[in-house]
Amino acid sequence: MTQEKQRPVVGRFAPSPSGRLHLGNLGCSLLAWLSAKSKGGRIILRIEDLDATRCPRSFADQIQQDLEYLGLYWDEGGSAGGPAEPYYQSECASIYDEAYAKLEAKGLLYPCFCSRAALHAASAPHRSDGDVIYPGTCRSLTPEEQAQRRKTKAPATRVIVPDTQISFVDGHLGPYTENLAKECGDFVVRRGDGVYAYQLAVTVDDARMGVTEVVRGADLLTSTPRQLYLYQTLGLQAPSFYHCPLLLAPGNRRLSKRDGDDSLENLRPKYTAAQIIGKLAWVYGLQETPDPVMPEDLIASFDWAKVPKQDVALPEGLF
Ligand code: GLU
Repeated sequence: MTQEKQRPVVGRFAPSPSGRLHLGNLGCSLLAWLSAKSKGGRIILRIEDLDATRCPRSFADQIQQDLEYLGLYWDEGGSAGGPAEPYYQSECASIYDEAYAKLEAKGLLYPCFCSRAALHAASAPHRSDGDVIYPGTCRSLTPEEQAQRRKTKAPATRVIVPDTQISFVDGHLGPYTENLAKECGDFVVRRGDGVYAYQLAVTVDDARMGVTEVVRGADLLTSTPRQLYLYQTLGLQAPSFYHCPLLLAPGNRRLSKRDGDDSLENLRPKYTAAQIIGKLAWVYGLQETPDPVMPEDLIASFDWAKVPKQDVALPEGLF
């Protein structure tokens, strides 16, 4: 597969609207926006509401208001629409059907009846990110066995992965390699309830929207080889990837949605947009003080080299 070099830069925000925007998403959005804008690029807003029951439209609307408030305007997508409609993944099932059919035609898909609980309970080895390396349990079921099991359970669908190294150079974190057969196993592209999996949807959408650079949290670094494999298999052009450090709560605790402290719902009444962006920009090394600043004012001096590579804890009392 070719990685992006030539096309005009197109970045994206890809929030999952299962709640209000919080500092973690906001940090990635700020870096995505600055990375694209500092190269004269454009930004697309794609709403990742694959699981429509968990992602009501009101949350997506609220996220758009928060991004606008913070000065993180986008050039295309969201409720504003644009040439690559639809921008809501909940409306893209027929587009994903096509990609699914291509994988199926290559003989790469099979139904999987394993439950998550059974996989975790079995002594299957675990990935570095805590997930189970799928041991291929359902790969060799006969058509008769499949038909029998379909009577009691709607299967998920897995894609067969190759026993080869998949490597890429992350624009921020450097080289990364994974052997999908050994370190991941065949992975789910469609759930048992018919909802397409993140890995398939994000690949198809980034390609069809002409995204040239993906900026997202470092927790998704290990998803990238799976997506590169899908780009390759579907004959799609892969973007560049920049994985950014995660924000942690003071004392290196995980930022938790439950605490609510980091959500825009609580921050907006306390701080102006410029105060919020200024503090975040300082934490990310983009300015020397936490003074108020708007995203626009950070474009000229933006440089990935300033951004830490390790996760960063918010100093006590900053927010
Ligand atoms: N929708 C994902 C999230 O909100 C981001 C996926 C991506 O950037 O690839 O965490």
